[in-house]
Amino acid sequence: MSSPHPRGAERHAQLGSYLESWVVWAADPDERHRGASGGVLTALSAWLTETGRVNRVIGAGPAEDSRRTVSVTITDRETALASAGSRYAPVATLASPDVLDSDGAVVAKPCEASALSRLAEGRDLQERPLLLSFFCAGTPSQKATDDLARELAGADDTQVNALRYRGCGWPGDFTVTTDEGEYRTDYRTSWGDKLGPSMQWRCKICPDGVGESADLAACDYWETDAAGYPLFEEGDGRSGLLVRTERGREVLHAALEAGVLVGEPLEAGKIAAVQPGQTWRRANLAGRLLGARLAGVPVPRYRGFPLVRLAFGDLRQSLRSARGSWRRARSSMSRRRRP
Ligand SMILES: Cc1cc2nc3c(=O)[nH]c(=O)nc-3n(C[C@H](O)[C@H](O)[C@H](O)COP(=O)(O)OP(=O)(O)OC[C@H]3O[C@@H](n4cnc5c(N)ncnc54)[C@H](O)[C@@H]3O)c2cc1C
Repeated sequence: MSSPHPRGAERHAQLGSYLESWVVWAADPDERHRGASGGVLTALSAWLTETGRVNRVIGAGPAEDSRRTVSVTITDRETALASAGSRYAPVATLASPDVLDSDGAVVAKPCEASALSRLAEGRDLQERPLLLSFFCAGTPSQKATDDLARELAGADDTQVNALRYRGCGWPGDFTVTTDEGEYRTDYRTSWGDKLGPSMQWRCKICPDGVGESADLAACDYWETDAAGYPLFEEGDGRSGLLVRTERGREVLHAALEAGVLVGEPLEAGKIAAVQPGQTWRRANLAGRLLGARLAGVPVPRYRGFPLVRLAFGDLRQSLRSARGSWRRARSSMSRRRRP
């Protein structure tokens, strides 16, 4: 994985390269309400397809069994609204054969955006699909969703009519709907206690949780407490938005002009300040990788991320991270060796 350094872009150690940074939300109240934060990706998907700027947007949404998540093709406002909201579960967003077509757009996790831009390497910017991404703390397991749905709504064979991770408010509740009723738990419990802890190791050593390879990358622009920790109190959604490329800049300004998005420019540092999970992971990544490597675990090679520089920012904490990941790697290797 590599960090793009386009000419003329500003560079933030935690957020990567950007041309502009904004706080924005969908002007349409329904899109804003149903979206994970400001409904920005939903509003853009609806507008891009309905104005014919792109033929389709490939994203992710609920499967027929709505405990599962699948790659979906958005062609209008209705299909955009049907896949509004984040889905905290595995999905092969890029499985569609149309994914590289230049007349389309893709909404995808940062790792997928990075893979897609590698696939499109050598093509002119206009010959690539428009890439929309979002900040990503990592993908929880499918089992975590199944367990939580079962815990809230009852037995395994309960027919789940709908399952939403968040949205319909900001951040909104994890909500399971069955014939018997609607069962919910708040974001702090669903993400913090149930889904987040099941995240795969690969995500814990990801250097790009911020969508560096995308044209536009959206995130939650949380309200925080005095120490900078998100409050997760319900409110009207607001997204931070990083403009990464000239193409992204053109799309954002056209959407603002068309009245599809509302917002104002924002210092990028203010986005980093309300994303402690992202900044912590990047600052501790060199330590984590070193610990795993010393324990004999192969680790991926990353290019262009300022991981060593960030690690020196708090050397004591980096050494703690190295020791922790060394211990975890050793104990998981010895568990695997046991007959
Ligand atoms: C696994 C995961 C982890 C995240 N971690 C963070 C984080 O650490 N910090 C943060 O600020 N934000 C995080 N987000 C993103 C955040 O929840 C919102 O997507 C972001 O704020 C944009 O909000 P929105 O209202 O504009 O998106 P919406 O308007 O709700 O649109 C969401 C779009 O994302 C697509 N989508 C939903 N789930 C997936 C998925 N699993 N894979 C690919 N595409 C998907 C849908 O197709 C839809 O187009 C995460 C999202 C996911 C899926």
